[in-house]
Amino acid sequence: MTGFCAGAATTVGRVRRVNEDSYLISPLLYAVADGMGGHGSGDVASALAIGALQDRARLHPLSADAVFAGLYQANRVIVQAAAQRGNADGMGTTITGLALIETSGGIHLMVFNIGDSRVYRLADGRLDQITVDHSEAQELVVAGQLTRAEARTYPRRNIITRALGSAPPPAPDHWLLPAIAGDRYLLCSDGLFSELTDDQILPLLTAGDPQHAADTLVAAANDAGGRDNITVIVVAVDQDEGDDRAAEDDTIPRDLPPGGP
Ligand code: MG
Repeated sequence: MTGFCAGAATTVGRVRRVNEDSYLISPLLYAVADGMGGHGSGDVASALAIGALQDRARLHPLSADAVFAGLYQANRVIVQAAAQRGNADGMGTTITGLALIETSGGIHLMVFNIGDSRVYRLADGRLDQITVDHSEAQELVVAGQLTRAEARTYPRRNIITRALGSAPPPAPDHWLLPAIAGDRYLLCSDGLFSELTDDQILPLLTAGDPQHAADTLVAAANDAGGRDNITVIVVAVDQDEGDDRAAEDDTIPRDLPPGGP
């Protein structure tokens, strides 16, 4: 039996006046969205994206196609909302998340991403970034023109190359992973990893239960500067004793996490 225990925390930070991040916690689907666009557009865009995904998250069992349909719908409603507002503000949002889905090959975790929010996996004491940023800085890293360390301070590091709220609809990246008990997943907006390095994140991610870890990570990024909104979801994969691989016949989560934003 595969189940999750999750915790989430968010803050506006110490500089911004509005929290444009939104997040979703539901039994089979977790997501973080970081909105953009001036004049109150970013918070609307991220909330619309989360709302569209939330509709799909009620499906049980969940499929990859259902998640993709939710992302497509999210893009559509943001494009419509932007048109109603005159489309002057570049209204859009990143979205990244983790879903427990059924495939023809059994039960898997699916990580998905559009933009530069991130999903990390903590397994065997090692922290790995699963998602690949859709950003100008990442393109330059791939091209060998910037190191990962230089990308952290690159002046145009906030320029993203894929977002919800664009035409044609952006293609989401996705990864299928086994659900392994003891692994933890960290979903976060850039307000976390722009303030904290991976080495700083690692010990905080393992500190206590997922809610405590989420609270601790957000507080640490805020203390380190809090120059952007900071949102964190920590998801722990739980399983029954003696069952160290995902069961293929039972998808009902054991722990229902608390409600969303
Ligand atoms: Mg941000």
